Amino acid sequence: MGALDGKVAIITGAARGQGLAEAESFVSEGASVLMTDVLTEEGEAAARHLGPAASFMAHDVTSAEQWVDVVAAAEERFGGVDILVNNAGIYGQVPLDSLDEATFRRFLDINLVGPFLGIQAVTEPMKRRGGGAIVNISSLAGLHAVPLAAAYTTSKFGLRGLTRAAAKELAAFKIRVNAVFPGVIRTPMTEAVLQGRGAEIANAVPLGVVGEPSDVADLVLFLVSESSRFITGAEHTIDGGSMA
Ligand code: NAD
Repeated sequence: MGALDGKVAIITGAARGQGLAEAESFVSEGASVLMTDVLTEEGEAAARHLGPAASFMAHDVTSAEQWVDVVAAAEERFGGVDILVNNAGIYGQVPLDSLDEATFRRFLDINLVGPFLGIQAVTEPMKRRGGGAIVNISSLAGLHAVPLAAAYTTSKFGLRGLTRAAAKELAAFKIRVNAVFPGVIRTPMTEAVLQGRGAEIANAVPLGVVGEPSDVADLVLFLVSESSRFITGAEHTIDGGSMA
């Protein structure tokens, strides 16, 4: 018996990094997973590797039309939608005085409007299933400002607010919505900085290490499983103690 037997999940940004680790974990716990990403080749290869319980679809989270197609694909391929992980995101540091409007809007579009569109797209299908679980991947930048990352910080604070608002509104339909705030996790997003300053960054973490994608996947698995049935609108840091 797996913790997610018979469940169907959509995970965005699942071609690599944390999203891929979540897909691996969900499949091993009995779920069917629709993995989406803009990285088509990596995504297709990753889904093939996970076997018939996983399927990939090219998807830009900023497109409302594509969200309709993604939900339709989950229903056609696997019979419904029970779980959504809004994981796709971009990171970057630009000083505020040289941050142009288009870049600022791009961060909000991918990191905040994308999850908003996703929540809207899955609400009716989840109601039809009698409930569901949504996890939004924020960041420590959703709890405190990261230097030189005003656009990223704003988007991740926004996602925190969206989580609370959606949790209260959707609770009546037994749809739970939680936010996860990872510290530094070893993924392609952080590869360059960890190569240069890995030891220094790990030493700044109270537990003395950076996180692995599987660490976040374990927490997300708990938040989408029945074990967390009384938890919604909550904020979960996973950071080796950094915010303590
Ligand atoms: P990653 O770069 O490996 O994965 C992010 C994925 O999102 C990529 O596969 C990318 O192609 C995809 N993506 C980007 N724009 C997209 C779009 N418009 N539509 C669909 N997919 C898109 O990085 P990761 O560390 O696995 O990041 C996962 C999430 O965790 C992100 O939301 C990130 O902000 C957050 N996060 C990461 C860290 C960290 O240290 N790695 C820390 C805190 C929060």
